Amino acid sequence: MNQPQQITILGATGSIGVSTLDVVSRHPQRYRVFALTAHSNVVVMLAQCLQFQPDFAVMMDADAAEQLAQALDNEGLQTQVLCGIEALEQVAEHQQVDIVMAAIVGAAGMRPALAAAKAGKKVLLANKETLVMAGHLFMEAVKHNGATLLPIDSEHNAIFQCLPATFSDGLLASGVTKILLTASGGPFRRYSQAQLATVTPEQALNHPNWSMGRKVTIDSATLMNKGLEVIEAHWLFGASAAQIEVVIHPQSVIHSMVQYSDGSVLAELGNPDMRTPIAHALAWPERITSGVAALDLFATARLDFEAPDTVRFPCLRLAFEALQQAGTAPALLNAANEVAVDAFLQGKIAFLDIPRLIETVLENIPSRIVTCLQDVVEANAVGRETAEVWLKETMTC
Ligand code: NAD
Ligand code: MG
Repeated sequence: MNQPQQITILGATGSIGVSTLDVVSRHPQRYRVFALTAHSNVVVMLAQCLQFQPDFAVMMDADAAEQLAQALDNEGLQTQVLCGIEALEQVAEHQQVDIVMAAIVGAAGMRPALAAAKAGKKVLLANKETLVMAGHLFMEAVKHNGATLLPIDSEHNAIFQCLPATFSDGLLASGVTKILLTASGGPFRRYSQAQLATVTPEQALNHPNWSMGRKVTIDSATLMNKGLEVIEAHWLFGASAAQIEVVIHPQSVIHSMVQYSDGSVLAELGNPDMRTPIAHALAWPERITSGVAALDLFATARLDFEAPDTVRFPCLRLAFEALQQAGTAPALLNAANEVAVDAFLQGKIAFLDIPRLIETVLENIPSRIVTCLQDVVEANAVGRETAEVWLKETMTC
């Protein structure tokens, strides 16, 4: 019997982290948890440490780390507690680690995901923001260090499953003409502009099909999630903006499709449950059980498709424009979006202010060429700063 593969889960207390641990717990002979990380949720992290007994637990927040260390000590557990960004990198690149699940939300997930790629790990990438901000640098790190990159985002995992093994030689050379990226359309798909103006965070957090973290749920409601995913698909599969088409598919049963030059369209279908792409990526190229029920096509009954409306949902247009601008534009888009989503969740701005704020940032800060990580870090900081200034000015009006 082979030794179990050692896994680090970055963002273990989040929606993807919890689903990953659920799949891992079904296969104790195959996987052992080496390290778990979180921002500050001591209660959930303590429970996870008690169940999985990792070598390391990393908290981003120093007070939370102290509380966790005390609690683990009381329980007599050997798990070592670390804190801060360097510790996140350390458990991502540790020589004992085989697999890293990168499931921190937002720009904060970029450095540890990069560390895993540079250490040549099998990287399961949920943190799409890494590719949006630093796609070129990340893909180079994967290539030059022999890392294996597997997409967790359900759409990209579906596309990966539908592409030929030769896709990295170029999509056209592999006979691929288009990537059809599906989107549920979110809870406000049928809302008028007037209705969108007054939606609340509670309404936006109520996604029709998927249960996810707060940030990605709001991104789904604005269609920025699909915009970020367009940029993610560009880097993962070498697809130009023209080769990616967004298709609204309200049932979320088809997770995305690949269209070939002979007219074939391949799709991956399943129940909307992230344990399927997580299990696929964990075991790839093998298959393991995930705990997800088999798809009942008779209960599904129908699959609908429609074109996205970028007038009511301008975030999707802004993301396509940032991709075409290239350089630091996608990092600026991402930074402004993170500030805007946060402000919306706190009730400081209206739903329709989210795209307004992002567009303002993109119009005011020119895109620069990215040559190193510092360029991305600076763009993120400038994007956030400009967005904060806009917020202050708007709020005092
Ligand atoms: P979440 O908010 O539920 O969890 C985020 C995790 O990251 C938590 O463990 C939190 O403690 C940690 N974290 C937050 N801020 C941090 C910081 N500054 N430093 C260190 N750790 C921090 O998010 P989620 O829904 O699990 O999403 C995680 C990532 O996966 C996102 O990039 C999201 O876009 C992507 N994703 C999620 C889903 C989904 O179904 N949830 C689907 C596709 C892609
Ligand atoms: Mg997705």
